[in-house]
Amino acid sequence: MGVMADKQEKPQNIFNFDYTRDGRERPPQDYYEQIKEKFASERELRLGYRPPGTENYTSDLTGDLAKYAVDPYGQELEDREALNDEVEVLFIGGGFSALLTSARLREKGVESIRIVERGADVGGTWYWNRYPGVACDVVAYDYLPLLDETGYVPTRHYAGGQEIYEYCKMIAERFNLYDLAVFGTTVTSTIWDAESETWKVETDQGDTIKARFVVCANGTLSKPRLAKIDGVESFGGYSFHTSRWDYEYTGAELENLKDKRVGIIGTGASAVQAIPELGKAAKELYIFQRTPSSIDVRDDWETDPEWASTLEPGWQAARRTRAIEGPQISDSVRARREAMSREEKVQRQENANIDAMMRIHNRIDEVVEDPETAESLKPWYMLMCKRPCFHNEYLPTFNRPNVTLVDTKGQGITQINESGPEFDGVQYEVDVLIYATGFEVQQTGIYNQIIGEGGVDLNAKYSNGIRTLLGIHSQGYPNLFIMGGYQAFFAFNLTDVLNSQGEHIADCIDFVRQNDIHSLDCTHDAEERWVQEVIDHRGKTSRNRDCTPGYYNFEGADNRRQDGNYNGTMKQYLGHMSEIRENMADHFVFTHRHEALQS
Ligand code: NDP
Repeated sequence: MGVMADKQEKPQNIFNFDYTRDGRERPPQDYYEQIKEKFASERELRLGYRPPGTENYTSDLTGDLAKYAVDPYGQELEDREALNDEVEVLFIGGGFSALLTSARLREKGVESIRIVERGADVGGTWYWNRYPGVACDVVAYDYLPLLDETGYVPTRHYAGGQEIYEYCKMIAERFNLYDLAVFGTTVTSTIWDAESETWKVETDQGDTIKARFVVCANGTLSKPRLAKIDGVESFGGYSFHTSRWDYEYTGAELENLKDKRVGIIGTGASAVQAIPELGKAAKELYIFQRTPSSIDVRDDWETDPEWASTLEPGWQAARRTRAIEGPQISDSVRARREAMSREEKVQRQENANIDAMMRIHNRIDEVVEDPETAESLKPWYMLMCKRPCFHNEYLPTFNRPNVTLVDTKGQGITQINESGPEFDGVQYEVDVLIYATGFEVQQTGIYNQIIGEGGVDLNAKYSNGIRTLLGIHSQGYPNLFIMGGYQAFFAFNLTDVLNSQGEHIADCIDFVRQNDIHSLDCTHDAEERWVQEVIDHRGKTSRNRDCTPGYYNFEGADNRRQDGNYNGTMKQYLGHMSEIRENMADHFVFTHRHEALQS
């Protein structure tokens, strides 16, 4: 195998430190302890500035803030009559969750599938996020799902947003998902009707749709949020959120920004990709930073056509199996690990993590010319406390004469007035202000009220702690499936999780259809077992306690142990899924309603 092909075969592993090796000389432990103290003080500094948890954000984009949620891409949608009909499977949301699960349902012969989507097309996150420079940091050969089925080979190691969006549309075409889909439509309520044992789904377009199965496929980061900053509404210039990029204003190539002073608030993964493009295009660019992201090298290349031509159907599945198995560990490494105490292991892992972060710091010093700016760009937290970023143009952007980093040193922008943000007594005058402030995190049923058996609102049920089986089923919500929610495994490659959830859901639906059953609902005991399983696996790391605030650790707030992701391994998660599907009667109750519904 050639070097290039060999490289392309390699699975991505962003957190693969061999902490067992003693080959080179390391600094004394004191050095690491001092850095950890600095991490802790930077965390405390940030927590001291903010209200707890997510309270420093708002995703209630109504009233003066409603313009930040408007879809700038959906103008071409035609008016349509309100629907009053029935389908077998209804998806709330048309991103990868719906596309993947639908593909599996089609394989099982399910015909009546309707996607109800807020955007004007399928694609979910890739429909909304079209900011300049948008791309995915997960290797495309793993991130783009269903490559075996569609025969598509991504053009690059890391696909750009446009390619992924086009691919989503290709999947929808391929599996005939446009036929019944409705766009520009938001589901507002999903109510279980005990008599007909179907879900009654209502939308903001006046539709009433009955569905035997409902899949909450609304994504994990779908609803844009703004930082709560005094005076947001008083800004006199133009402003928008990264997920609602206004190309009419900026121009398709950002050409309209050449005489504009541009401000961007936030330096998370979205901003890191947009900033290099803005730096090239804007007359002046001001970057308002609260906490820097970690920026590592982006090892990107065009797909080698020779390698692509060797791929046989099944290649992606084989790749996935290898990734789930994890990196091969040699016998000597395993032996070294086993010989270590837990304390030693943790200390070595932390030290290796700090080494990686210091490598990231060194790269900043090498690239960024102004020492003060370089210092400001250094992230003081463990790798993976925040979403790691990979970019080759981000750091050099700060060497441009038209680019200014405004380091708020953990405080964030707290004041905006008519001419722009104000910080530390300095007024920054800008013509356009871009909010790169992220999204509300992992809410099941955003925009939507879900009411199950006995009239119980899902949020009310969750108010004493999330309760699910696999993060997918919740007792009292028969034939309802949740994708990408809490209590499920969460991976850097999210489509991998969605893929397995899609397979599971399609199998459950198929089970119901094949066994003369009408509905399935998980039992209280099965749910309880899963809640305990989630709790048992949480608290394995001290990330919540030690990490700088961010959405990975609930912005530094304490939270119930059950209200997060399942922290076992992907392999364990898949194992639980298989066991449950092999013994359905141990985990679910079934109803038998004999009037067969149309499929
Ligand atoms: P994030 O939530 O990650 O970032 C929000 C940013 O806003 C943070 O930098 C935050 O600072 C900052 N912020 C909040 N309030 C203020 C304030 N008052 N003043 C200044 N800054 C402020 O959102 P993103 O949209 O960047 O990313 C969301 C997620 O989407 C990513 O984590 C990733 O999972 C995914 N994504 C993946 C990409 C990829 O594959 N490359 C690209 C883009 C997104 P602080 O850090 O201090 O909280």
